[in-house]
Amino acid sequence: MRYVTFEHQGRLRPGYLDGDRVRAIDCGTLLEYIALPPERRAERHRSESYTLTDVSLAAPVHPNKNIFCVGRNYLDHALEGARATGRDLKLPYVPTFFTKAPTAIANPEQTLEFSSRVSREYDWEAELAVVIGARVKDVSKEHALEAVFGYTCFNDITARDLQRAHVQWFKGKSLDSAAPIGPWIVSAGEIGDAQNLSLALRVNGAEKQHSSTARMIFSLPVLIAELSKGMTLEPGDVIATGTPEGVGFARTPPEFLKDGDEVEVEIEKIGILRNRIRII
Ligand code: MG
Repeated sequence: MRYVTFEHQGRLRPGYLDGDRVRAIDCGTLLEYIALPPERRAERHRSESYTLTDVSLAAPVHPNKNIFCVGRNYLDHALEGARATGRDLKLPYVPTFFTKAPTAIANPEQTLEFSSRVSREYDWEAELAVVIGARVKDVSKEHALEAVFGYTCFNDITARDLQRAHVQWFKGKSLDSAAPIGPWIVSAGEIGDAQNLSLALRVNGAEKQHSSTARMIFSLPVLIAELSKGMTLEPGDVIATGTPEGVGFARTPPEFLKDGDEVEVEIEKIGILRNRIRII
C-alpha cells in the first residue's frame, strides 16, 4: 500500500493510492490512522476516490515532535566529511542521533524557500525515512522491524555554515522547509527488504549521490533498537536514516543549492521526492 496526505478543496486528508486514483481514509490525519491498531485500519478505507492529477500531495505524515535523524551512517559519507573538514575519521560505536524541528517539514513538489541572509551553504542529503507504526520501548533488534509502518524519501537539507557555527547540529538542520518528505509512505510489507534499496539524488538532473541502503553502518533494526532504549517511539515518528557520499560541502570544489535548482531524491520501490529551490 502507498499512503498519502492529499489536498482537496483546501482541506488536507489522508488516503491511499489505487492505480491512478487516491482513495480517501476516514481519519483526521494519516498520523491518526497510523496510530490505530493494525486490524482496525482497513475499516477506515473509503471507496470515495479522486484522480491523482486532480489533487496535490502534501507531506504524508507530520509528526507532533522532532524528526529523528542519524548522522554518519554510510562509511563513504563519513570519510568524505572527515576529508573535507581535515579531521581524522572516528567512527562511533553507537548511532549518532540528532533531530530536526517538525516545522521544517515540507511537501513533495513544494518550492522550498530559503534566505541568503540566514545561510550561504544550503546542502542536500538523500535519505531513506522510516515511519514508525507502533508504540515501542526497549525493542530488540530482532523485533524492531515489526514496529515499522512504512518507508518514504527524505531530503535532510542542511545549512552547513550554521551547522559549523552552532556546533550542535539542530539549528543548521531545522530551518523552515529543510525537511521535504514523501511523496508517499510505502508500507513495510510492500517494500520487503528495506536494507537493499538503491537511493540517489540529482540536482537539475545531474546525479550527485548514488548508493544502496545495504551500505548503512548501523542497520535499520539496530537504529530502531538503539533509539528505543529507554525512550518511547510512537506511531508516526519519523527516523531519517543517514545519507551516503556525494553531499555538496564535501565536493571539490564545494557545491551548494542555488536559486532555481531542482532536487530529486529517488529510492527504489518508493519513487521520487522532487522540490524546486528558491533562495531570496
Ligand atoms: Mg542527514
